[in-house]
Amino acid sequence: MEEKSASFGFEQHDHNLCLSKAIQAAEDYCTKYKLQFTPLRRKVLELLLQEHRALGAYAILDLLRDAGFSSQPPVAYRALSFLVEHGFAHKIERLNAFVACTLSDTSHSPIFMICRKCETVVEAQSLSSNLNISAAAKAKGFEVEQTNLEAKGVCHSCVETV
Ligand SMILES: [Zn+2]
Ligand SMILES: [Zn+2]
Ligand SMILES: [Zn+2]
Repeated sequence: MEEKSASFGFEQHDHNLCLSKAIQAAEDYCTKYKLQFTPLRRKVLELLLQEHRALGAYAILDLLRDAGFSSQPPVAYRALSFLVEHGFAHKIERLNAFVACTLSDTSHSPIFMICRKCETVVEAQSLSSNLNISAAAKAKGFEVEQTNLEAKGVCHSCVETV
């Protein structure tokens, strides 16, 4: 038996632990910076964490409605932009969707690996490629504030089922 509890996403892991850790981290952050972690914001984060899949705003609205929350678009958009702004979630531009952040460090430039079959999204740090981007940008006199690299492909478990 292999112990894989420390890994995320494509790999088997203790998902209950990963969910509760992410919620706890968000709670701690909000307490520290005196931000409101409202029930709606928490719910949206929970929905994003649920399956490590990217969810579009409309899917989130549906799920909120099912959970008995207000499903008015501005309410959901505000909760999403709060989560993105504080690093609890990221926007996947390519999918026009959102994922929960699975890296505890709140200031990072992630790379996302998106499985085109099961739509699982896995986040990883992309230090070396960011350095390349920064260096290339600097040469052009451009100041990089944020990079979100997105890679599309087939995940480990989907390769096995082909
Ligand atoms: Zn998980
Ligand atoms: Zn992240
Ligand atoms: Zn897959």
